[in-house]
Amino acid sequence: MATTDYEAVPAVEADEKAPHLGTVVMKFGGTSVGDPEKLKNVARRLVAAREGGARVVAVVSAMGRTTDDLLDLARRVSEHPDPRELDMLISVGERISCALAAMAIYDLGHEAISLTGSQAGIVTDTVHGKAKIVDVRARRIHEALDQDKIVLVAGFQGISADSFDVTTLGRGGSDTTAVALAAALGAQVCEIYTDVDGVYTADPRLVPGARRLEVLSFEEMLEMASSGARVMATRAIEVARSHNVRLHVRSTFSDAEGTWIREEDETMLEKALISAVVHQREETVYRVDGVTPARLFAALAEASVNVDTIVQTGSEIVFSAPVEDAPDAERALDALGTTWTARDDLGKVSLIGAGMKSHPGVAAKTFATLERSGIEPQVVSTSPIKIACHVARADVDRAVQALHEAFDLG
Ligand code: ADP
Ligand code: ASP
Ligand code: MG
Repeated sequence: MATTDYEAVPAVEADEKAPHLGTVVMKFGGTSVGDPEKLKNVARRLVAAREGGARVVAVVSAMGRTTDDLLDLARRVSEHPDPRELDMLISVGERISCALAAMAIYDLGHEAISLTGSQAGIVTDTVHGKAKIVDVRARRIHEALDQDKIVLVAGFQGISADSFDVTTLGRGGSDTTAVALAAALGAQVCEIYTDVDGVYTADPRLVPGARRLEVLSFEEMLEMASSGARVMATRAIEVARSHNVRLHVRSTFSDAEGTWIREEDETMLEKALISAVVHQREETVYRVDGVTPARLFAALAEASVNVDTIVQTGSEIVFSAPVEDAPDAERALDALGTTWTARDDLGKVSLIGAGMKSHPGVAAKTFATLERSGIEPQVVSTSPIKIACHVARADVDRAVQALHEAFDLG
């Protein structure tokens, strides 16, 4: 499948069709569109941006818990829902929000058009439930913008280039839709509107003293997202980094400045040692014996399992993967005919900071802090800017709070 249009997009350049006006992509998450009043508030924000002179493309998520409710519904009908049909079902939530937002915009005296992922030209591969965007054919969006319309795109979904079926992009996938559109349209900025006013040194729901970060590099945000900071989807940051799309994570409910995520530069050099403590309450940890790593990871890749931590000692291989990938992982492991066990009573706590690269002693302090709190790490892994520890799920919250305090992040 040709990936040309999308891959070749020059990043962060003025929109050729209207060099005098900037294009902005504004993405609103589930809580931001949680009820009719909130949807009307989103419509007002979009209209204000349009009246300020911008060409406005909005990406909206499903209202509140809609996606979870649809998934529950599917499981009540079928134990293993057919992946194609599941995508048909769960892509509906985003269509509802963008049609409603368009109606609210009409009531404010502006023109709008809602588009499904497919109508917006979001072309993907055919991996149902976690499809990757391979192309953005934005002709319809350009046409609508040229007609002065506010364009609403249903997030989290696309159309398969091979089967022409509806696909979804994985949980949190509206972020990815927004960033891919920003890249394809050469938008000035991609604004991620959510229920917190930026990216914090820890999940503000867990650590009330957490501090908002003003700026983060793509690398740091990528580590944070892949370690479990729900605030942005991992894949979205990957797309932003490869197309150099500036991101601004900010609150739907205020005009306050949020957190900028962009390429690392010299103004970031004076950064703190550690930027954030990130946690993930659920992750499955597998222990496998009797198979070579080459065979094991080929089988897992074939089954589209997103492997995270990998540790090998002798013939034993330990790896972790998201809980939602468990059915695929189990099927792949059974097919290999090897001996394996899985633990689902662990969570993960990760310390992330670009400053770690040049400062010894972070690991020492991390383990000392955990030991003082009576928390025993089960699996430990690192990258140049991350230390991650799997710990008992019951200990995750305490570990985050203790590390946040020990590294003085508040
Ligand atoms: P949306 O529905 O807007 O996509 P999400 O629920 O996906 O929102 O992401 C926002 C949530 O991410 C926040 O409510 C917050 O609890 C959580 N979160 C986790 N870690 C962080 C962090 N380090 N900074 C900010 N928010 C975080
Ligand atoms: N509605 C989808 C989800 O709940 C996509 C998103 O919100 O970004 O995962
Ligand atoms: Mg989200």
